[in-house]
Amino acid sequence: MTSDGERRDAAAGLIASSAGPDADVRRLIPRTDALLCEPRLAEAARRLGAPVVKAAVREAQQRARAGRLAPQDVADEAVALLPDTASGLQPVINATGVLLHTNLGRAPLSDAARRAVAEAAGPTDVELDLATGVRARRGRTALHALRERVPDAQAVHLVNNGAAALVLAATALAAGKEIVVSRGEMVEIGDGFRLPDLLVSTGARLREVGTTNRTTAEDYAAAVGPDTGFVLKVHPSNFRITGFTRSADITELAGLGVPVVVDIGSGLLAPQPLLPDEPDAASQLRAGASLVTASGDKLLGGPQCGLLLGEERLVRALSRHPLARALRVDKLTLAALEATLTGPPTPTAEALTADPAALRARADRLAASLSADGVDVRVVESAATVGGGGAPGVTLPSVALSLPERYAAALRTGRVPVVGRLEAGRCLLDLRAVPPRDDERLHGAVRAVTES
Ligand SMILES: *Cc1c(COP(=O)(O)O)cnc(C)c1O
Repeated sequence: MTSDGERRDAAAGLIASSAGPDADVRRLIPRTDALLCEPRLAEAARRLGAPVVKAAVREAQQRARAGRLAPQDVADEAVALLPDTASGLQPVINATGVLLHTNLGRAPLSDAARRAVAEAAGPTDVELDLATGVRARRGRTALHALRERVPDAQAVHLVNNGAAALVLAATALAAGKEIVVSRGEMVEIGDGFRLPDLLVSTGARLREVGTTNRTTAEDYAAAVGPDTGFVLKVHPSNFRITGFTRSADITELAGLGVPVVVDIGSGLLAPQPLLPDEPDAASQLRAGASLVTASGDKLLGGPQCGLLLGEERLVRALSRHPLARALRVDKLTLAALEATLTGPPTPTAEALTADPAALRARADRLAASLSADGVDVRVVESAATVGGGGAPGVTLPSVALSLPERYAAALRTGRVPVVGRLEAGRCLLDLRAVPPRDDERLHGAVRAVTES
């Protein structure tokens, strides 16, 4: 008896009749050991591991047994089934127009950072002084590079992400005590992740002050007392409150006699003229912040990590706290961060500062070539954004290729996945977050969809 599903599959030609190809044809299907010796598959086994190659071989043989593939095509099919990468993470082209797309891994690393990661992958002197042969401070060159970039910080420390930086500060400075925070800054960062929940999980208590739209320095002053661990200022990095609003300046809070911790989120180290409302570490420290926390993979353009910058006394307390060991960054992160800090402009900075006229020229070139190939493509103006990583409400003038809607899914699932965005029934490929050197691959991906 066959199930409805099987009958449907058979009708659709997905499976052959239960007999499959005749026995003679089956005997022609190459054996597994022979296929594993095929040069392309043997090379793939060295690159990706034998189990991955065996799985592709078995799948190709299965297709031949089911009559869907000629026996002589089994090796080619197995090669085609191999993944490009040794992990399930597929490199994609970010044509969403969102510079820091959390679902796409936020900031792409610079070439300098990528090379540094590869070089640090083997044994390194991450915790050893080669001159003396004795143990040295872990990641000292990356920490030094961060200090150099932010001279206003007396000391710096690194953890795994921005959330970890806050957890460490709350644990080390406010466990069993109060964190004084404005009601307007009790934010959810994304994916149901709420800052107040995170802070309370450390054993600190939250002392909410002010209202959603207005909190004054007096509100903070009235709440600060012997139980205060620190005053916390959080940058609302993914929303904006406008209208009848007020918030206290760091300068006003610095005189309250307790540490002022500022979560700037985005990781700008110095002011960025294109994003005048986005706080930066240097300005916050100069205004009187005791400690600044930030992410490494937002506007800083580096690897995922959490930055802590500020007063020597506080940073030392954090870095020596037992929890610091559980949050410490690995050598790959240290390498990527240092190269980001000392290297050429990051892809994020390039995307942020890209000239709309240059984007237009790239789009025109791509569209002319695709049109000549019969693609229904137009060049349209577009509005790019920084993304959940910062600068809410800011739009960056951009340019996009506009394609029929069906391209969206096809491009996403192509060999080189391209993620665009849907707008008014068209698939837009915004060029602002696409590095110019990827134009060729983008062109190829659109052509591949057109021909399919
Ligand atoms: C992004 C962000 C965080 C969380 O940082 P992660 O690096 O994602 O852990 C915390 N606070 C603010 C203000 C943020 O923007």
